[in-house]
Amino acid sequence: MIRRPTTLRKVTVLVVFALILESAAIPQCDWAAKVGFAIQRRYKTNEAACQALAARPEDFNAAHAMIEDEILRSVPMTVAPRLEQFLKANSDKILSQVGMTGVEQKVHLSSNSDLNAFATGQNVTLHVGLVEWYLNPESLLTRLGISGQQARYYLGSLTITSPRENGLVGVLAHETAHNILGHPDVSPLVLGCEDYIESGIREIKEYEQLISTGKKGSRFAAFFRAAAFLGSEVMLGSQRQQQYESDADELGAWLAYRVTGDPNTMARSLQWLAAFPGASFPGGWTESLCSDHPQLLLRVSKMQAAAWSVANGPPRKLLELPQRQTTQRYQQFTRWYPARLETIQRIAAGNLTLEEKRLSRVVQLELKPKEASGWLDGDSFAPGKLKLSLGLGPHTLVGEYKGIRREYQFVVLDEGPDKFKLEIK
Ligand SMILES: [Zn+2]
Repeated sequence: MIRRPTTLRKVTVLVVFALILESAAIPQCDWAAKVGFAIQRRYKTNEAACQALAARPEDFNAAHAMIEDEILRSVPMTVAPRLEQFLKANSDKILSQVGMTGVEQKVHLSSNSDLNAFATGQNVTLHVGLVEWYLNPESLLTRLGISGQQARYYLGSLTITSPRENGLVGVLAHETAHNILGHPDVSPLVLGCEDYIESGIREIKEYEQLISTGKKGSRFAAFFRAAAFLGSEVMLGSQRQQQYESDADELGAWLAYRVTGDPNTMARSLQWLAAFPGASFPGGWTESLCSDHPQLLLRVSKMQAAAWSVANGPPRKLLELPQRQTTQRYQQFTRWYPARLETIQRIAAGNLTLEEKRLSRVVQLELKPKEASGWLDGDSFAPGKLKLSLGLGPHTLVGEYKGIRREYQFVVLDEGPDKFKLEIK
């Protein structure tokens, strides 16, 4: 990388910043983890996650408001009525863009001076440091310990100026987008519930295998669905978190545009964030909105590109929330699972419905060794492999070799295993 030469004065300012940032409190970027762990503790199993999703929205929200209150209790808050009013009014405006008029989102101001903001599901918290960086950057910089002259010098050296209130709307829109999309509170439950359904389907496959062939599958005896709540590596995987960030940027850009009328709101907001001195070291790192510097710049350029398209309408694909589909899948699953078990047992017992009596399936039968004599349901059966059409229900393959006679019972189900084998040794 080729570095641009910097003046000595700028270097001095940056060194001062380096010292300030090193001594500053470590910003917390683990809010997703905090909410995730609280959800794990509360729901304990994947099945409970499904039930929570299927609950009435007001019950879900009430339960999660308590989880969030508990988490936010550890955050030092500050009071600034006019600013809070401004943020709350914009939060309501943002939510009304997606028809969420009756939904309550609280906006808090934390007294933390680092540049951060976070969403926990129904709450958004902005650090005062971040607010100050947008509304009064000189005062923030001097509060962080450099002289007014140095601060003015630094700000004057930037090629952009603060987007001020619109910049805050950009941050608020990004955080609100996380909440609208359910990233902190709904996604862990969706993932847990999907895991529950998939495990249940695997259980049925294993059961089909056992009943049909008489042989256990490799994973049998594991009660998949009883598994505890989803592991945090799935819930908080970095790829998933990055996807959440880019989705929140995409939806946030449209929301911010709707509120301010300027399609560039999100791009300008992020660009100003990237101009914070902690972000300006070559290869430097800032925890601003939990984004490292190259990522932050990438987000800026993505948002600049997105400004061309926000006027075309909301990102509809993002707004098809996965929880609706998962809840539906869960409801179908709870009907399907016992019905499927019953069907498997009934076919195995030979109690076929009229329709099942008319059905047959092509299956592969194998009798070994090739010198054996065989009978399938009483009719003679030549050894070797053979594909043939069999009716549903139980069947018996008998083989005889060197005076040893073996009987193999198997069941042809409407789906599941289609290969059956008897070997006499
Ligand atoms: Zn974010």
